[in-house]
Parts: sequence; C-alpha cells; structure tokens
Amino acid sequence: MNLEKLEKILADEPAFRLKQAKEAIFSKLIENWNEASNLPAAFREKLNQEVPLQIDFKKFISSDGVTVKFLITLGDGQKIESVLMRHEERNTVCVSSEVGCPLGCTFCATGKMGFIRNLSAGEIVEQVLCVARFLKKENQRADSVVFMGMGEPFLNYENVIAAIKILNDEKGLGIGARHISISTAGVVEGIRKFTKEAMQVNLAISLHAPNDKLRNEIMPVGKKYNIKKILAAVGEYLETTGRKVMFEYLMIKNFNDRPEHARELATLLSQLPRNLIFVNLILYNPTGNFLPSKKEAVQKFKENLRRAGIIVTERYRFGRGIKGACGQLAGGK
Ligand code: SF4
Repeated sequence: MNLEKLEKILADEPAFRLKQAKEAIFSKLIENWNEASNLPAAFREKLNQEVPLQIDFKKFISSDGVTVKFLITLGDGQKIESVLMRHEERNTVCVSSEVGCPLGCTFCATGKMGFIRNLSAGEIVEQVLCVARFLKKENQRADSVVFMGMGEPFLNYENVIAAIKILNDEKGLGIGARHISISTAGVVEGIRKFTKEAMQVNLAISLHAPNDKLRNEIMPVGKKYNIKKILAAVGEYLETTGRKVMFEYLMIKNFNDRPEHARELATLLSQLPRNLIFVNLILYNPTGNFLPSKKEAVQKFKENLRRAGIIVTERYRFGRGIKGACGQLAGGK
C-alpha cells in the first residue's frame, strides 16, 4: 500500500474523489478498491492496478490473546513491527517511526539493528490501518496510538507529525490527539519544535537513569543531550503547554533500581512542577544484556518516589512471549 502515491494520483482528480477515497480507506477500512462502492467502477479498477490497498503482514498473537504483533513488509522489502495492546477499556497501537534506529540504546533490540531509513507518513499510518482492519473484524476499533515502536520519532519529525494529523483527522481514523503519545529518547530540538506545535498529543521521555553517568552507559544519545538539557526543554514544554509529561524508567536489575537511584531521581525531577510530571516504571524485557529488577526492588523504588511526592505508575508487560514488548522489536529478526 502506498498512501503517498495515492495522494499524487488523486491530485489530478476532482477534490471530492480524494474525499471519497479517504472515507473508503479510513472510515470503511476497505482492503480492496472493489469494496469502494462510492467510486466509479473504471476508477476502482485503475486504483487497484496502481495503488492496491493490500498490506503485506504476518501476525503473532500472545498466548493470552492480549497482544498482537504485526510484522509488516514495506514496498522496498524492509520490515517493521507494530504491536496491538488490548487493554480492557481501549485498544492501543504501538507504531514504529523508523526502520532500525541510529541511537543504539544497549537495552533495545531495535538499537542493535542500526539505522536503515525513516518511514514516510503513509508507512506510519499504514501500521494503524493494518491493526484497525484486524480489529474491525471483531467490531472493535483502534482507540489510541503510541510512538514507542522501532525508531526515535523526533529524528523523523516531519513525517511523524504528518502521520499524526492523518490519524487525528475526524474524517479519517479519528483518533483523538489526547490518545496519541510520542516517546523520545530526549532529542532536545524535537522537544522544542513539538512544544510549538500546540498539539494535544502526549509527550513521554525515556529517561531510564537518574544521572548522566549511568544513562550514558545504556543510552549513547545522552552524550549529545545530557539530562540537564533534556529537563530544560521539558520545563519549557510544561510551562508553554501546561500538559503532563511522562518519564519512562526501565527497571534493570542491579543497575538503576537501588533505593539511592530512586532518591536521586526524585531530587532530579523536583525541579519540575510536581502536578505535571509522573514516572512510569517499566520492567526490563530481556534482549540479552541485562536482567529485569526483582519485584521487591520495583516496589521499594516506587515507595521511595512516592514518599518524595512523585506520582508513579507501573507499565503492564505486554507481549514478551512474542517479542513484542518494549525494547524487543527488531523487524522480525
Ligand atoms: S530504545 Fe528507542 S531510541 Fe533507543 S535504540 Fe531503541 S528504538 Fe532507538
């Protein structure tokens, strides 16, 4: 499927054709142009020839049925992964923004692939469409989208923002901006640019350590953007938008999970308005280098943060059995 090519073809047609085609793709979730009864037969034929709607994918369902990983093959043969997480009250799609990633975080399977290329806006939207079509068969819909899959979204800034606009479009998939989240490893220029977008989209920062020394050991990007620079950009974001920011913190055994780390993290974050920040603890999903923290360590860490007045949540672990959990995506490798 090639949404960019479709736009080009439809640019030569009357405006209402584009509207009809978009309605068929995003609202009716058609998988073949023959299903687009609002378009003339000859035009459907042309579209089937030139921009077929098929998405080439394989799916892997976790044993509890809660997580579904989609391995999508793109037009040039590159492979990306997207993950559906079925919460009780909503269906969340975790999308990729790049094939591979240049940032090389040592805890992440995508980081080990290196960077191959950015995804186009259409390729990002296609991931949500693929999941939405799957859910439609169960009379369900994709309710929220998180940019936490393969790649650093702010290194593919323009395409990510363009994709969000398509996902958010009321006449399209209609996913509310407040149900879309971008997670960044702390690309400061991206945070600043995003602050100016005045979007209702949520921002998350992958922090994972309470100081630069520890952080640089697992996130080489920290040498370019240290914690001080990141927190300064987040401070400006909070002041301008008044929207909450989530700090993601991977719990890695005997690395960043000690009580002194929790206290250091609380002190670090105390420079930001307490009511606008929260920490989301994520139990590390093994990708070879480290081990996940013990339950007791996570509990203690949480208590220490709470005692210091920091709001803490803990992320449910989705999809470990199908290598679809945080840090485990690697384009099917
Ligand atoms: S954690 Fe995110 S930023 Fe780091 S290497 Fe993996 S995909 Fe890239």
